[in-house]
Amino acid sequence: MSGIYIHIPFCKQACHYCDFHFSTSLKKKDELVNALCRELELRKDEFKNTSVETIYFGGGTPSLLTNEELQVLIDSVYQNYQISEHPEITLEANPDDLSKDRIIELAKSPINRLSIGIQSFFEADLKLMNRAHNANEAIECLSVATRHFDNISLDLIYGIPGASNAQWLKNIEMALEFNVPHISSYALTVEPKTALASFIKKGVIEDVDDEQAHQQFHLLKETLEASGFVHYELSNFGKESYFSRNNSAYWQGKSYLGIGPSAHSFNGKQRGWNVSNNSKYIKAIQQNELPIEIETLTLTDQYNEYVMTGLRTIWGVSFYKVENDFGTVFKDYLIEQSKVFINQQLLYIDDGHLRVTKQGQFLSDGISSELFMLNSF
Ligand code: SF4
Repeated sequence: MSGIYIHIPFCKQACHYCDFHFSTSLKKKDELVNALCRELELRKDEFKNTSVETIYFGGGTPSLLTNEELQVLIDSVYQNYQISEHPEITLEANPDDLSKDRIIELAKSPINRLSIGIQSFFEADLKLMNRAHNANEAIECLSVATRHFDNISLDLIYGIPGASNAQWLKNIEMALEFNVPHISSYALTVEPKTALASFIKKGVIEDVDDEQAHQQFHLLKETLEASGFVHYELSNFGKESYFSRNNSAYWQGKSYLGIGPSAHSFNGKQRGWNVSNNSKYIKAIQQNELPIEIETLTLTDQYNEYVMTGLRTIWGVSFYKVENDFGTVFKDYLIEQSKVFINQQLLYIDDGHLRVTKQGQFLSDGISSELFMLNSF
């Protein structure tokens, strides 16, 4: 089982906090779509013995492509790969691209899941983050989308400077009113070289308050769990049978093919990443070359990655898997390193799995780094 991720590297405008790869010029859109189709064809042998369970259009802003362009890409995937009978096909979309007519057309296409970048229902938050949509557009698009799609995820951002806990709770409650089966939520992080970092440095925007972000994470968790969501990954909440199949596959170490500029790929032993430059990407593909750098993961890298992703999910870290895949040295090391966190009630062992407690959840990335193996095997 495997997945295909297709990166659409265009956005209308730059959100102040974002450090993903995208261009705000759409001049090369046609060439890019052709290059994506060509890359899909060039790499088909990498998945010749596996069937594709998920196709994910991420970005950037994939909803900037027309429905016809998306269909061309889906056709190209079907022409070059074996696709399972009921694939999950997700489109990341921004509210300002989702008019009523557009949603109705999308619902007739093979796309069967929308991941909508709402981020906040409050105008002040949206302005501070320089989102391209306004609060009304967020509400309107969700009202229509929920009538035409059953499988919808929305994104919300917490820890926004100036947004109180009461306002955050209102954001969550508004999301719940739409009865979507999946919510992804991330803390606003200040990435170097972003406009947000520069505004904070100049004092134009107040800094992110980690303690408040922590409180808002717990408000989110409690409110969504009380409404029947399962907190199945640090940043993801889903109703039963609506967990993202695409993301769950990443977290469970399954293979995926990343198509497009800056997209990452993984085949269980090697990780690859495409060049983060639209012109260089298009030029290389036009010459039938893959603009990809590949790194072979050591056993230590694979163990560290498994620990980090495992602790972020409800599946936890399996001692059996660690011993089986990496050896007794790794299992003994994991037992030893986790003791201090078990004593602090940040980790616990259940049914042969190491998991984070409720108190440990927000800290899980920091905890896993303490469980990483430092010696290289
Ligand atoms: S729309 Fe998404 S990818 Fe584009 S700038 Fe905003 S956060 Fe980044």
